[in-house]
Amino acid sequence: MNCPRRINEIGPWNYQEDDSDHWKDDCCSFCGSINPDKVIELIKSGYTITRTDKNYKIYLNYPSHVKAPNGSGKVYLMHFSREQIDQLNQALGYIA
Ligand SMILES: [Zn+2]
Repeated sequence: MNCPRRINEIGPWNYQEDDSDHWKDDCCSFCGSINPDKVIELIKSGYTITRTDKNYKIYLNYPSHVKAPNGSGKVYLMHFSREQIDQLNQALGYIA
């Protein structure tokens, strides 16, 4: 896969869509975001989120005894498909 942040944001890195990024331990190898499917799964199991002042970023709140795979629990929403956003909103109880 290619991280959408690599493709859409300005930075000193390779912009080619060349499948250079991958998921490792449920985290994007480029930006560190947690995998959308994992986020949805954990919210369904009772995890909560913390919003930020950025409309593209949330934090998944891990219980104190569980270490977030990326350290912080950060989630970048540009990794979500439209369908996954709907699933996320459903899991959070925002839509039926
Ligand atoms: Zn990424």
